[in-house]
Amino acid sequence: MGKTLIFGHKSPDTDTIVSSICMENLKNKLGREIEAVRLGEISKETKYVLNYFGVEAPRKIEEVEDSQDVILVDHNEFAQSVKNIENANVKMVIDHHKISDFQTSEPLYYRAEPVGCTATIVYSLYKENGVELDKKIAGLMLSAIISDTLLFKSPTCTPKDIEVANALAEIAEIDIEKYGLDMLKAGTDLSDLTESELIYLDAKEVSLGNVKAVIAQINSIDLEKMVERKEKLEEQMNMVIEEKGLGIFVLAITDILNSNSKMIVLGKESELFEKAFGVKLEDNMAFLEGVVSRKKQIIPPMMKI
Ligand code: MN
Ligand code: MN
Repeated sequence: MGKTLIFGHKSPDTDTIVSSICMENLKNKLGREIEAVRLGEISKETKYVLNYFGVEAPRKIEEVEDSQDVILVDHNEFAQSVKNIENANVKMVIDHHKISDFQTSEPLYYRAEPVGCTATIVYSLYKENGVELDKKIAGLMLSAIISDTLLFKSPTCTPKDIEVANALAEIAEIDIEKYGLDMLKAGTDLSDLTESELIYLDAKEVSLGNVKAVIAQINSIDLEKMVERKEKLEEQMNMVIEEKGLGIFVLAITDILNSNSKMIVLGKESELFEKAFGVKLEDNMAFLEGVVSRKKQIIPPMMKI
């Protein structure tokens, strides 16, 4: 059967990649054969992180074979997972998202905590297993927490994330503010990406009742510059709506330093968005003050409608 594979979600972010690598490290130290892999391209931010700590990216896979043993991190919904996940053997899940659309035929180890980052849970697993963290691993996990919590500014950030981040920063000997800003900046340099790449950077497919939706997010430090590309972004979004038969496509352009988002909303179910947020779309666009988290602030109100 070969090694157990461990991976995070499609369109991998820093938490997904880092949590896979660190869980591989932990399991290997405990004497288990396990390999971290990824389901998509590495983002600029993650590249910066891996470079900084001199760590290689996991190998990319397209699908898993029937009965392949797998461990999921940073996701549980099959829609966000690898191709053929339905026929894989899910041994373990380590995640900080809501649980939905999830079913296995065998018992499994499931660790979910309502914290801001999977790496925060992985840190606890190192502690619980009495395995020491080296500088590299600590730096990687710290990066994941900074990324998922937007330097502790996201409403998903919990006191536990901050406490763990501080402990990790000490081991890694890193100045959180300075390193964090450099890292987020490296991740938001989007000038050389095409519009079609931008909308897929961090896109999640979700089902809102019987409405098929994609909710994508672009983190930026220059909102206006991104809004200048609105027309071309909309062209690409409309193509995806066609292709996938979506009812609604929401693109959040999030200003990570000021914690606001400009939303571009397309599709015949756009009204769903207006109802969820009590706003009127103007020219397919709305400004949401204080909204930065897709998981906590964007998806739940839309689910309710
Ligand atoms: Mn993630
Ligand atoms: Mn995460």
